[in-house]
Amino acid sequence: MSEKILTGIKPTGQLTLGNYIGVLRHLKRLQDRGDCYIFVADLHALTLPIDPEVLRQNSIDVVAFYLAAGLDPQKATIFLQSSVSAHAEANAILQNYLYMGELSRMTQFKDKSAKMNESAIGLGLFAYPVLMASDIILYDADIVPVGEDQKQHVELTRDLVNRFNNRYGEVLKMPKPEVSKVGKRIMSLSDPTVKMSKSDLKGDIFLKDDPKAIRKKIMSAVTDLGCEVKYDPENKPGISNLLTIYAAMKDISIEEAEQHFVGKRYGEFKSEVADAVIEVIEPFQNRYRQIIETKSYVQALKDGQIKANALANNTLNRIKKAVGLLDIYE
Ligand code: ATP
Ligand code: MG
Repeated sequence: MSEKILTGIKPTGQLTLGNYIGVLRHLKRLQDRGDCYIFVADLHALTLPIDPEVLRQNSIDVVAFYLAAGLDPQKATIFLQSSVSAHAEANAILQNYLYMGELSRMTQFKDKSAKMNESAIGLGLFAYPVLMASDIILYDADIVPVGEDQKQHVELTRDLVNRFNNRYGEVLKMPKPEVSKVGKRIMSLSDPTVKMSKSDLKGDIFLKDDPKAIRKKIMSAVTDLGCEVKYDPENKPGISNLLTIYAAMKDISIEEAEQHFVGKRYGEFKSEVADAVIEVIEPFQNRYRQIIETKSYVQALKDGQIKANALANNTLNRIKKAVGLLDIYE
């Protein structure tokens, strides 16, 4: 049986080059490797306040970007999380097998809640990893490709699977996070000590930026002292980040990228990084625009919804049975 691969992106804001490098650019290859379930994590987007119209637009964008990245709806199942009610039902069951202590130690919760007034932190933000575990478990996912920041949540899902299976037998499939070698954590161009995120507007490259804006942002990216283009994330975080971006765009190793820039100055280096990004992102944006125009994302989502529901409901029934929920139709 082929491997099951699952991943998702939250429609919380404008997608960044970090999302492209961490996840989107791998999708085309992944759909030929296994059985792909790729979703828009729209329920997850509700964990922080968001305008309904913005959420709708962002959700369309995420699907359009999936398709622009080369996902073929004939090969991969592309769907909205909210169109498969089994996610919410599995969440209601699985929330009893993850504990307050471990949830409160999750980095994402600590980071996102630190910026908020305590009285305004929703339960959903705290319980985020339960829903994410449900997403993964429902599709019997073997592999979960994510950026490094989401690895912790997949590890927690593994703990849950262990805990559940120890109690009820081999009911749930054990998933594994898969983090790309190059570009697992792209940093902000204006502050290379923080992750590039769609909910953080400063100096990031958004996938909808026009080539001119992309060039400008890269040319004014924060660099480091010295003049050597060298990969040294600790002492040269800005340069290392740009080198990573270059390597990801060219699909080469960091060492090869470093080699390419030996003896070159920062200005020349940045200009080549900008060329490399634009070379990949411009055609990607053209495909995105065409998908938005033809609305081909609608049929992809309709087909995906049917396939996703079939598999998810099957797993949900297995979970319900295991914990002792009565099936009167059996
Ligand atoms: P948000 O600020 O809403 O959390 P985000 O940019 O972190 O936005 P997510 O929807 O949380 O995006 O994550 C989607 C996927 O992109 C995840 O697999 C995540 O690990 C990956 N990802 C996000 N940011 C980066 C980054 N800077 N570098 C590499 N991968 C990333
Ligand atoms: Mg995130």
